[in-house]
Amino acid sequence: MTSSSKITARKTLEKIQPYSPGKPIWEVQKELGLDRVVKLASNENPLGPSPKAVAAIQNGLAGLNRYPDADASALKKAIAEKYQVTPKQVITTNGADELITLISEAFLEEGDEVIVPSPSFSEYDFGAHIMGATVVPVKFKEDFEYDVDALISAVTEKTKIIYICTPNNPTGTYIPKSDLDKLVDALDDVLVVIDAAYDHFADAADYTNGVEYVNAGYPVVTLETFSKIYGIAGVRVGFGIAPEAIVQSILKVKEPFNVNTLAQIAATAAIGDAEHVETSQETNKVGRQQLYKAFDELGLTYIESMANFVLVQIGEDGENLYKQLMAKGVIVRHGKIWGLPDYVRVSVGTEEENQFFIDALTSLLVKQA
Ligand SMILES: *Cc1c(COP(=O)(O)O)cnc(C)c1O
Repeated sequence: MTSSSKITARKTLEKIQPYSPGKPIWEVQKELGLDRVVKLASNENPLGPSPKAVAAIQNGLAGLNRYPDADASALKKAIAEKYQVTPKQVITTNGADELITLISEAFLEEGDEVIVPSPSFSEYDFGAHIMGATVVPVKFKEDFEYDVDALISAVTEKTKIIYICTPNNPTGTYIPKSDLDKLVDALDDVLVVIDAAYDHFADAADYTNGVEYVNAGYPVVTLETFSKIYGIAGVRVGFGIAPEAIVQSILKVKEPFNVNTLAQIAATAAIGDAEHVETSQETNKVGRQQLYKAFDELGLTYIESMANFVLVQIGEDGENLYKQLMAKGVIVRHGKIWGLPDYVRVSVGTEEENQFFIDALTSLLVKQA
């Protein structure tokens, strides 16, 4: 018998770190024996799923003996109407994460370069590495503003994709439209992936999710998700909007039934649930202010956010404080994974959840002082 250690995985997999998700509530509850645990670690919707999505799922259960619609035609039609594009410019996926993988599989050859602003969402690196492409990180300016000139300077003959996460996870900063105009105009033969997962929370007048570039014929993919504002992270739906030829290439590497029936039904209902979207936006706006005010009172530096999370600098002892917050039943994200060990990223919760976090943080900081 051959030893299993002789079966070697592809060389490029050595570069891949396993994804580190926010700890689930049950795990922290069990490990620490806590009654109440508040999870503000994965930028989920604190109000719950769209009620229309939940009702639609209940109605769809009896049809589960059938395979899903491989074309997700009802969902694509709803998306196309909402974004003023054609269904052929839309691709639906098993979460936006899958779309990042599919884009990588469709466009990257070994040795290609992928420009990734740093720090940003880790899935971009993952997609590059599974294809044996090289990640070229480009740092943000001070205060985590996008450095468009540095991004343009990083482009070489080998550059194939450039990712722009706006608002950016984990910083909450966004790229103003004039800078994005400059970037897309400066590029030639480079696919620009605009990750607009937090689109609905961005209320700046010069924000754009990039769909206008798609309509103008630029090689741009706008990426969106149902996991954040629509509150259905658990069923996994994301989508992309891109020129038809780009969508056609991505479809070639897609599994036929990648978005399951319940996910399609839920997403189609959620996109039409304007009331849930508006309430979620309002809750987030108020919640961000609640967090800012508390950070100001505690003398903490934070980055003003266009998303549903805030990056806050809690000091040199960041990791310890993060663990102590956990011990008090508050799960946030420690910044170490982004090379920001003195920061945590906290998702905006309900007013009551935010207060629970603020009280825990205050008691720890006051104790330290
Ligand atoms: C959450 C998130 C996504 C999408 O997540 P899915 O749940 O896979 O749809 C994409 N990009 C960023 C930056 C995110 O934070």
